[in-house]
Amino acid sequence: MNNIKIKAWLENHPHPLINQIVLLEEVFWVNPKLQSFHTALENCPLALNDVLEAEARLQRFAPYIAKVFPETQGTNGIIESPLLKISNMQELLEHEYEHEIFGELWLKCDSHLPISGSIKARGGIYEVLKTAEDLAIKRQLLTTEDDYSILDSDQFRSFFSQYSIAVGSTGNLGLSIGIMSAKLGFNVTVHMSADAKQWKKDLLRSKNVTVIEYASDYSKAVEEGRQQAEADPDCHFIDDENSRDLFLGYAVAAIRLKNQLDQSGITVDENHPLFVYLPCGVGGGPGGVAFGLKLIFQEHVHCFFAEPTHSPCMLLGLMTGLHDKIAVQDIGIDNKTAADGLAVGRPSGFVGMLIEPFLGGNYTVSDEQMFKLLKNLADTENIYLEPSALAGMIGLVKLCKQGSDYLQQHQLTNKVSQGTHIVWATGGSMVPKEEMDNYYRKG
Ligand SMILES: *Cc1c(COP(=O)(O)O)cnc(C)c1O
Repeated sequence: MNNIKIKAWLENHPHPLINQIVLLEEVFWVNPKLQSFHTALENCPLALNDVLEAEARLQRFAPYIAKVFPETQGTNGIIESPLLKISNMQELLEHEYEHEIFGELWLKCDSHLPISGSIKARGGIYEVLKTAEDLAIKRQLLTTEDDYSILDSDQFRSFFSQYSIAVGSTGNLGLSIGIMSAKLGFNVTVHMSADAKQWKKDLLRSKNVTVIEYASDYSKAVEEGRQQAEADPDCHFIDDENSRDLFLGYAVAAIRLKNQLDQSGITVDENHPLFVYLPCGVGGGPGGVAFGLKLIFQEHVHCFFAEPTHSPCMLLGLMTGLHDKIAVQDIGIDNKTAADGLAVGRPSGFVGMLIEPFLGGNYTVSDEQMFKLLKNLADTENIYLEPSALAGMIGLVKLCKQGSDYLQQHQLTNKVSQGTHIVWATGGSMVPKEEMDNYYRKG
């Protein structure tokens, strides 16, 4: 649909929040299409087995990962991040927003994932590994029984150099795909949108990754990348708008989180709800993690996506039901935000349709607020994140302040004080110090 058709469509399908969204006001939206877990799962194209299969594949690669990325030796080649309790930040939020926060606040530090320092070290790296495994098994160079550390050899690097991998990205996905693909020996091209930071491009080029820059936004970079890759049968295009493998790589996070919660003595059950706040760009990262969490905790987990007021693409897609048929630009929103990981104007239709019956809701947050929270978190917990990664932080305040309908509907009003909030910190540990100092000053 073009702009004019979208405008006409919206006039015929009025939605009370649209005006506020157009005015770039922060909103909190409860998803009316949330279904009971079992009903939602019945109609879903993916299931727990698919996620377990992805986890088993990552286990097969662990000896290789430990060998070529020594920073993962402590976890035996498993790429995982800490879960930290952040009580000082919780206190600050209560004070700052003048509202009691029921339950306990934890931070899932994907910002500190090894190799590429963002949530993309889950899905992105997983899809590259799966591509490599498929190729090597097909050519009978590898079996699933092998010790995959043999992939660290000139023979395999030379084999993979016959193939290429391409991706379109606002930055972090490019980092993950670029670093992992180059390590295996693939030829790799990253198509970067205008928002992508210079240091990310420099870092990739230093690792022999081809970086192509575009003056336009993410959707255009993906489109160009897809077209160029289609012309080459030996090129695998990692399609961030549409990839089952990326999605499953992200979903594995839930299995790992379950273990971390057990180790930290945190119960999730009927009387101890879990609330998770996930920054959302095109949707794959938060969608995959949320889907995995629903598979494991079912009715007891409540997932919310967070987007910048200038890039509320998933909110718009879900709220209108138009998914990838609508972009923020269609309603006059500019998709300009300092939260570069979230600077996406059109959501993934694949993710939107899949996650719709599982998702609690969605809210927007201003750039100003993200910078303020960035500084607050640094001051209270000495943890430094990139702006995108702070979008989740305000979710619990919004839920406690504006989410009473949701809490009532799910009979949570009296249980939330025994619950746990997890803010998904999606990136930041690789941001150069100078850049981080700038962010901090803005807050
Ligand atoms: C990519 C990214 C996200 C969101 O992931 P999507 O798959 O694009 O929705 C959130 N935060 C950071 C820092 C990211 O890089």
